[in-house]
Amino acid sequence: MKSQFEVFLRLKPSNNQSQNAMQYQIYQNKRLQVLLPKHVKFGMINNSRDNLDFNFTHVFDQKASQEHVFTNVTTPVINSFLDGYNATIFAYGQTGSGKTYTMSGAETWQLRGVIPRALSYIFDEIDKRTKFEYKIYISFMEIYNENAYDLLEKRHLETPLEQWNKIALFEDDQNNIHLKNLSIHQCNNEQEGIDLLMMGNFIRQVSSTPMNQSSSRSHCIFTVTLEGCDTTSETCFVSKLHLVDLAGSERISKSQVEGNLLNEAKYINLSLTYLEQVIIALNERMKGANRQHIPYRNSLMTTLLKDSLGGNCKTVMIATISSENDNIEESLSTLRFSQRVGQLENEIRRNEKVDLEAVVKRLEQEKLALIRELEQYQRGGTSTSSNKKIQQQQQTLLPQSSGMPISQKEVQEKVELYLNERIPLLDVKSVEETQKCFEAMKDLYNTRMKEYVTELTFISEKLQKYDEILTRKKEQSSFLEQKENSSPEIEVYRRNESPQIQFKKRPNQ
Ligand code: ADP
Ligand code: MG
Repeated sequence: MKSQFEVFLRLKPSNNQSQNAMQYQIYQNKRLQVLLPKHVKFGMINNSRDNLDFNFTHVFDQKASQEHVFTNVTTPVINSFLDGYNATIFAYGQTGSGKTYTMSGAETWQLRGVIPRALSYIFDEIDKRTKFEYKIYISFMEIYNENAYDLLEKRHLETPLEQWNKIALFEDDQNNIHLKNLSIHQCNNEQEGIDLLMMGNFIRQVSSTPMNQSSSRSHCIFTVTLEGCDTTSETCFVSKLHLVDLAGSERISKSQVEGNLLNEAKYINLSLTYLEQVIIALNERMKGANRQHIPYRNSLMTTLLKDSLGGNCKTVMIATISSENDNIEESLSTLRFSQRVGQLENEIRRNEKVDLEAVVKRLEQEKLALIRELEQYQRGGTSTSSNKKIQQQQQTLLPQSSGMPISQKEVQEKVELYLNERIPLLDVKSVEETQKCFEAMKDLYNTRMKEYVTELTFISEKLQKYDEILTRKKEQSSFLEQKENSSPEIEVYRRNESPQIQFKKRPNQ
């Protein structure tokens, strides 16, 4: 299923109402028209333009409340996440434009942002969906200078950044990314989720690291993993929701920064530049260009968000801009970036899997039923109704014949590979093939049993011989012993021994 990226825009309330305010118009809550101030107009290639238009799924003006933003942006994405699809909501914009305010919120409960509201919504919804059993897990990480750290590791409160374990990335054969050193916390209710969010934000702010002054220079990813199992069937799904607060997107000029700051600026700009490159590459591929390679691996953030950007994920961006002319160039850059993101689409699918526990439970029940059936049969009964039912079930599950006859030898080889654990599953295509597999197993079993019996007979014969030799040796040695040990103490001991045994009380006397 195709899923177009959705891009929302939020304008931060202006601090002052002076001439410094950005001049703009919003049309039908979907289009923003920016009236360009003179200095920007002259800086543009086509300086005849007085205004620029940008389209969005929805534009939130300066007065939009946190609740309004949440309801419009998040509800459809989270519903899709609850149905088993991966989802990502990321906030992008320059420092101070309202990313953290939008994602986490301000101090008061009323001003809480997307993440705490999402947690409430998720727990409310799963309570309603009684057909499923759910488990929720949370992790929270920060990416700073191309290194990722766990924000839910309590030890980080007492140790400096240098001693923190970096999160390590591994990619498996199917290009799935696995993370080491990232804790995952099972979460049973909204409050536990909010406690984890607060703890992560607290660790981010107060830890004795350079980050405490520089949260704007790091990316944060809050991930909710949902495991849902259908109680009426044997299917389960696992979906992930990434809630991302990106680092400030401003282009810091090198002259303004030095030392550690320069390093940070380089990394932040680089990872956001790489994010742009990924978006451009994806755009080109969408427009038909022959682009096989998408440069996800250039930065940690794009590697971690690979699925959100060009994979199996419903993705939403919230662009935040300030409403002052002082920041117009950064705002225009955010607006342009958002237009490119808005053109993308992902191919999404439900992450379904079979619930192995439920299958095992069912198979065990079936096994018990079969054992009972067999016992009945051995007692003299013939094919019962449930026996017939099982036969019918087998016939409906598999076709009578696969069309391509498979030789007994091929079946035997396949069965041998399976029994030697060289292949994980025994793939059968027809009832006929299943029967051949059973015959092959029976043959193998009989051959092996014969081999074992021969071997066992051989071993027991040998053991018997050893036994004979041992008995003979014992007899010889006891004869020698008697001869050598005819000293008086031993005689005494032996004489004393028998009365003791004779006088031993019997328990019931
Ligand atoms: P960022 O994370 O993008 O650097 P913040 O979210 O920290 O920016 O916002 C900077 C300041 O502006 C904060 O004090 C925040 O409370 C305030 N702020 C941001 N957006 C809004 C908004 N929509 N309404 C009210 N205050 C806001
Ligand atoms: Mg912030």
